[in-house]
Order: sequence, then C-alpha cells, then structure tokens
Amino acid sequence: MGGNDELNARIKSRMDAMNKRIADRMAALDARLGGTVAVVKEFPDGSLESWLQPDFDDIKMLFDYIRGSNIVRDNPVYSAALDKVDLLFLTDPANPESNKVNAGAYRGGRKITLYAGFVRLARIAGSALAADLGGGAVFKRLLDVVFENPAWADSITMDEATDLFIALGLRHDAIIVDEAMRHEAVDRSSAAILATLAHEAGHIALGHVNANVDYYKVNLEVARNQERQADSFMSSVIATVPFGEHMFEAEMFNDFLNAVAEKSRKEKSDRGHTHPLSVERYNNLLKDHPDLAEKYGFLQLESA
Ligand SMILES: [Zn+2]
Repeated sequence: MGGNDELNARIKSRMDAMNKRIADRMAALDARLGGTVAVVKEFPDGSLESWLQPDFDDIKMLFDYIRGSNIVRDNPVYSAALDKVDLLFLTDPANPESNKVNAGAYRGGRKITLYAGFVRLARIAGSALAADLGGGAVFKRLLDVVFENPAWADSITMDEATDLFIALGLRHDAIIVDEAMRHEAVDRSSAAILATLAHEAGHIALGHVNANVDYYKVNLEVARNQERQADSFMSSVIATVPFGEHMFEAEMFNDFLNAVAEKSRKEKSDRGHTHPLSVERYNNLLKDHPDLAEKYGFLQLESA
C-alpha cells in the first residue's frame, strides 16, 4: 500500500522535474519550425505504418552488435553459444500482436523469437524519448495510457499503435522536418530493441535455455535468479557497446513502463502478479550505472 503511494510520488516528482526541460525543447522546436509545422505526412521510408512495422534486417544488425561486444568476444563460451543463435521473427497465430520476445531451444541450437507488437512499442517509446529528449511530457502520457490499458504492455495491434502514437501528440511531421529529432527517434528505438535482445542473448550465453527443461516448470526462485543474471549480462553489454547509453535509458524506461503496467493490473484485479520484478530490475540497472542514472536524473524506486 505505502509502496504504491511511494511509487506514485516518485513517478510524479520525476515527471514534474522534467516538464520544464520538455517545454523548453518544444518551444525551441516550434520556433525553429515557424509555429506551423510543415505538413509532411511521409516518414523517411514511407509512412507511419512503416515506422511502426518491424524491419528484420535492422534487428539482425542489432544482434550483431551484441555478438561483437567485448563481454561476448572475450568469452569463448558466450561466443560459441551466440554464434549458433537463429533470430526468428514470428507472428503468433494465437496472439499476432504480442509484445513477447523469447529465447528458446531450436533444431539442436538456440533461437530468439520476436513478435511484431514488441517492435511497435519500442518504436513508440523511442519516438516519445526523442520528442522529450530523455523522457518527460510525452513519456508521461505514455505511462498514463499504459496505466489505463495495461494489456497494451502485452500486445498491441498496428491500429492501436497508430492511435497511441497520435494520442501521445507525437509530432511525426516534426520528426521528418527535424533531422536531429529523426536520428534521436531511430537511435532510441533501436537501443530499446537492443537492450531486450541483449537480455535474451544473456539467457542463451549463460546456458539457461535447455531443450530438456520446460521453462514453465522451473522453480520460481530459479527463474527469478535467471532473470537477474540475464539482466546483469545486458548491463555488461551496455557498458561496452557504442549504443550503451541509449540502451540504459531505453531499458530504464522499459522497466518503468512495466512497473506502471504491473501496478495497474494489481489495482484492477485481485489476481495480481505473483512476481512483479520490474521495480527491482529498474533499481538493479540503476545501481549498475550510477553515473548514467545521475546524468539522466533517474531516481531509485521503492518496491511496491
Ligand atoms: Zn528473461
């Protein structure tokens, strides 16, 4: 109870503190664009839809960053494990818009499976972070929407993603006109995808994925420890790749978003979740990178 109030207070204080920075950023943008933003409906590669549509080649390239990171290259066991990984981009017939990303066993090797909703949410979060330059007004709206629709943290259709993008007031016209903002949006959404891929790569490198073990029958405490270890692997990747700083920011916001969704589910149903780890994951990452946490103004969250 007290924990939830504390979380609310922390969220509010963090967001309030950033509003001025955001207002300044938006005012500067308006000034640069002359008040009336030129109507440019097209994204660089076509449309809003194509921005929200996963690009498999991009994802393969991002995975190569992980394979090339020092933590992997310096460890023959990690290198060998990740060399054999297949990336599968799937549409789950049961849930085509799922936001899931899974590591699993596959044809004697290992696979990472990604679903379309995951990339959409990363693009939206990356756009929000770009518009805010580090989180703030737009990201606050995203948190509010996810709090009201926690199911969107699990799956999101193209139509819902388009609605959400527009409802956030994201200025996709500005992203076109303002090249700097466009780069920010691409960098930040790529970093969000990279962070999640690094976590899944961690499960594989650390030998958590085993064809003979049914993940869902694994003891809860073992499963939680594996999640912590995969996060720790991701944290090491952050320390050694060129995108690391954006990865940190994106993953902090991802955990923040999930903490908000978990809190909403808890308040909306008695079922709740038996193991809401997002607040702990956020705090662990924050502790690993105190310099970046200070730079971006992230505060420690109280456990709910
Ligand atoms: Zn995991």
